Amino acid sequence: MTRLTRADLDALPAYVPGKAIPGAIKLASNEVPYGPLPGVVEALTAAIADVHRYPDMGVVALRDALAARTKADPEKIVTGCGSVALAEHLVKATCLPGDEVIYAWRSFEAYPIIVASAGATSVRVPNTKDHGHDLGAMAAAVTDRTRLIFVCNPNNPTGTALRRAELDRFLDAVPSTVLVVLDEAYREFVTDPDVPDGLTAYGDRPNVVVLRTLSKAWGLAGLRIGYLVAAPEVAAAVRKVVTPFSTSMAAQAAALAALKADAEMTRRAGLVVAERERLLDAVRDLVPGVPETQANFVWLPLGDDAQRFGQACEEHKVIVRPFAGDGVRVTVGTPDENDAFLEAATKAL
Ligand code: PMP
Repeated sequence: MTRLTRADLDALPAYVPGKAIPGAIKLASNEVPYGPLPGVVEALTAAIADVHRYPDMGVVALRDALAARTKADPEKIVTGCGSVALAEHLVKATCLPGDEVIYAWRSFEAYPIIVASAGATSVRVPNTKDHGHDLGAMAAAVTDRTRLIFVCNPNNPTGTALRRAELDRFLDAVPSTVLVVLDEAYREFVTDPDVPDGLTAYGDRPNVVVLRTLSKAWGLAGLRIGYLVAAPEVAAAVRKVVTPFSTSMAAQAAALAALKADAEMTRRAGLVVAERERLLDAVRDLVPGVPETQANFVWLPLGDDAQRFGQACEEHKVIVRPFAGDGVRVTVGTPDENDAFLEAATKAL
């Protein structure tokens, strides 16, 4: 058959979503287990009446609310169909074919897909033996072709986090012509005060973009909404490549309601963190070399046993997320869900 699409896409791995099997406990997608925040369902119900109209493409009310929360000017804020879409827009806004994007590996599995779809080139820098970013090697990997660097903090799927001093050093070392994206999808679960909030620590650096999502702690994964905070010129360029109207009316309404429930969000994140610490202690008794985590998941470095372990957990009706040949990521669930996982894990090992 005549080829109609790009040949290089054949070799590109597809994004693998966490499995959902009826009746099984899903600890595979880093979601929070508590349902929508108060006010969200009501806001969605009210928004339905207007769905024959397009949403506000300027996302004015929500950007104002995010500006109040982040203390950033609304001009610096762009929303999108999940933060993954914004990551894609950032690559599109910075890279021409052949330009280079640096990221740690292993990190968020969408990065290689996003980079390749833009025709750019991935430069993967292996993680340290503690499963964290090797920032020295990442800075050293910059060339004349480097346009963007993803720094995932905390890192998905390993949970490790970068501290203030090492990030300061890294940002000072990276040329000002390279955009550094601090992907802080799990920021709300960070408890170590040495792990900087990118917005307050680096918000005034013109080549730093902070990427956040409402999918995790804010409980809106199904509505697809994320945002970035960037220098006004960078934000303006991103707006040009955004798919028109991609922040839906439902997403805008729900996000506005969720942001009003920030005290409840913080309470729930606290529950997740308490369970994270319990789960971490328990898995460290089962698996050697489990790294620290500042996110809502733990990483089991099981190497070649990852796939088998994932399958065995699934047979015990708990779905985790194996990365073949590397490790298994387990999302923190409710206390009962975590107990079910620990029981499954004990049997699986
Ligand atoms: N960044 C990281 C590090 C993630 O783990 C995820 C979700 N798995 C995302 C971005 C994208 O999240 P969303 O598109 O739901 O905002």
